[in-house]
Amino acid sequence: AERERNASLTGPGRTADGSAVPLLLNVGGAKDLVPDGEGVGLFRTEFLFLGRTAAPSVAEQETAYRELFEAAGDRKVVLRTLDAGADKPLPFLGLADEENPALGIRGLRTSRVDPTVLAEQLTAVSRAAATTDADVWVMAPMVATAAEAAEFAALVHEAGLPTAGVMIEVPAAALKARQILAAVDFVSLGTNDLSQYTMAADRMNGELADLLDPWQPAVLELVATVAAAGRELGKPVGVCGESAGDPLLACVYAGMGMTTLSMSAPSVAAVRAALAGRTLADCQRLAELALAAPDAESARRSVAEA
Ligand code: PEP
Ligand code: MG
Repeated sequence: AERERNASLTGPGRTADGSAVPLLLNVGGAKDLVPDGEGVGLFRTEFLFLGRTAAPSVAEQETAYRELFEAAGDRKVVLRTLDAGADKPLPFLGLADEENPALGIRGLRTSRVDPTVLAEQLTAVSRAAATTDADVWVMAPMVATAAEAAEFAALVHEAGLPTAGVMIEVPAAALKARQILAAVDFVSLGTNDLSQYTMAADRMNGELADLLDPWQPAVLELVATVAAAGRELGKPVGVCGESAGDPLLACVYAGMGMTTLSMSAPSVAAVRAALAGRTLADCQRLAELALAAPDAESARRSVAEA
C-alpha cells in the first residue's frame, strides 16, 4: 500500500486498476521540463520566432530543439510547428492585416503564404532529432481539413520524421476526426482553441469565460467524437489544452479513451492523484455523466459528486 501511495505521488499516470494514462508536459523550452512528466505533449516553438524581424536560421532552430530533446532523454516529445499569424504577427511572414486574425492566416495556414518557414523548421527538427534519443513526434496547429492534415503528414515524413499528427482545435476537424486520423499518425486536442471556436467566444475575453468553459456540452461532445475516432482507428488521441490539467476533466478524458494528457507542470500531481483514485470503469462512468449533463455547471457538479 505504501509503495502504491508513493507511486501515485510520483510515478506514471494510471488509474486505480492500472490502466496507463501517461501525463505529459506543455513546455516552451528545456527550462519547463521537470522530472515529473513522462515526456512532452506540447512543445510550443513560437518563442524562437516572436519579436524577430527575420526567421531564425535552420542552425539556430536545430540547436534550440536539440537542447529540449536532450533534456527529455529517451522520453516522447511532441513538437508543435509554428503557431503564429495575424494574431501573433511575424514581420518576416509578410502577412496582411486582418479584420479577424483568429479566423485568418495562422498556424499551418501561414505556409500558404510562405512554405519555406515550415520547410526549414521541419529540416531543423529532423536534424536535431537524428542526434538524440528522444521519441520526437511533430504536429501542426490550426488544421481544419483532412486534406491539410495529409499534406502536413507528407511534409513531415519527407523530412525523415516518422510520426506526424495534427492538433484538433477547429470544430470542423473534430467533426471529421476519423478522416483526419486516417491521414496522420496521431492527433492532440487543443481545447483552448476548440472551446473558442466551438462557442464563438474569444479566448482573450474574460467576460465570456462561462462560454469558453471546456465543460460546455458542445465542447465535450466534440472531444468525445475525436476520442471515439481514435479508438476506432487504433491511433493515439491526446489532450494538450489547459483543460487536461483539471483533475476531474482529466478523469472524464481518460474515461473517453484519451491515450495521453498533457498539461503545465504544476497540474501533474493533482491529475495523477485523481486518476489513481479511480478505476477505468469509474472514469468511463464519469465521462457518461459529463456527456449527459445539460450544461457546463451541472456536468462539473455531477462529476464532482459521483
Ligand atoms: C490549445 O489551443 O488548446 C492549445 C494547446 O494551443 P495554444 O493554447 O498554444 O493555442
Ligand atoms: Mg491552440
